[in-house]
Amino acid sequence: MAVLPAPAAAGRDTNSDRLSWPARSLGRQALPPGDGWAAAGEGTTGGSAASQDNVHVVDSRAELIDALGGDNATNRNNDTPKIIYVAGAINGFEGPDGNLLTCADLADPEYDFDEFLVTYDPAVWGYENDPSGPLEDARRRSVTNQTRYTQINVGANTTIVGLRGARLENLTLMVDSVRNVIVRNIVFDDAYDCFPAWSPDDGDAGNWNSQFDLMSVRRSENVWVDHNTFTDGDNPDSAQPVYFGRPLQVHDGALDITHTASLVTVSYNRFDGRDKVMLIGSSNTVGPDVGRLNVTLHHNVFDGSLQRLPRIRFGQIDVYNNHYELSGDGFQYAVGVGVQGAPYLENNSFRLGPGIDTADLLYDWGGTVLTEQGSWVGQGHRPLRPASLLDAYNAANDPDLGDDAGWTPTLRHGPVLPAAIVPIYTRLTAGAGKLPV
Ligand code: CA
Ligand code: CA
Repeated sequence: MAVLPAPAAAGRDTNSDRLSWPARSLGRQALPPGDGWAAAGEGTTGGSAASQDNVHVVDSRAELIDALGGDNATNRNNDTPKIIYVAGAINGFEGPDGNLLTCADLADPEYDFDEFLVTYDPAVWGYENDPSGPLEDARRRSVTNQTRYTQINVGANTTIVGLRGARLENLTLMVDSVRNVIVRNIVFDDAYDCFPAWSPDDGDAGNWNSQFDLMSVRRSENVWVDHNTFTDGDNPDSAQPVYFGRPLQVHDGALDITHTASLVTVSYNRFDGRDKVMLIGSSNTVGPDVGRLNVTLHHNVFDGSLQRLPRIRFGQIDVYNNHYELSGDGFQYAVGVGVQGAPYLENNSFRLGPGIDTADLLYDWGGTVLTEQGSWVGQGHRPLRPASLLDAYNAANDPDLGDDAGWTPTLRHGPVLPAAIVPIYTRLTAGAGKLPV
């Protein structure tokens, strides 16, 4: 019989001395100078300066929360520099005994989905008013229960690095009201909402909406999100049941950057097969978001996603050397140009599936301008060739978008590649599992 290794001591894990040299080195890395908006201001060092007793290796929800400070309700206030290595898969629903809780465990006693479907059926309730009353109140209390459990709060001066095969499943990594956070080499999988909201006046026929992103950045700055994979795994949007004639939406964004967040660099990530990917700014209100929401996206792959790649408001958004693999079914748009947004698109590549035209890649959500150069687009299996998203958009739509976002990015690290090699380059480098650990 094999001899099992001794279990880790209760509480703090102790096995960080077994990390490989590349893993140690990765944890100690700061964002390179000049690498996107997260290099502005005080720069982004995460927990790279952590003392050795603030270097943790975690493989459960409880250990992750412990390493982040000990109490999920207050961990966002823990600004001690810390490096957290994720080993294996951590699930947001892990209960105290290690078994997974279910949606029923997190539901308010008064909540009943079947009853919800009867009560707020548009045939009964109509489309005029949002759901209200005891059952909707019980749904909201249920969402609060789930938020407390599956939303993992991160404090300032934190680096989270995935070891080989690291996954954060069925949880939301929340970076709210903190600064200086680095997240690298993690597979984020399926942050599903047990209790989606029904919004009868969202769109022409109502929509189900979810609360939970895979990762959210709010009211924070100096955040570097690098070499991660964002996916819904075996629970994709395309497989959800339909109620009230609309698909049950159990996911929100992959990575949403909202509520005055700014100075964020999103590099070398994969965003695989989902509906909504990245909202930068969540409100059209001309207020606190003005002058904020500055984000750099480079060397990311958007594969098979339908909208918000990203959808932007207010910020100066540098989008260079990203590859888009857009398959067709249900596709809405790639870059959404919203109120006072200033996107600068350079040397991105686009592979378009059936039914998608170059003119479909932009969408006007109330913005007016866009700088674009060096885009290459390939239809079906045809080779990529130079194309202008803006010219195609303006030829097909009125009013036209202007061609000058009014700023020129200076925070870039390394050369900007020609778009023609971006598909192969990003295939080899983007996503979790590409960094040496
Ligand atoms: Ca969101
Ligand atoms: Ca036009």
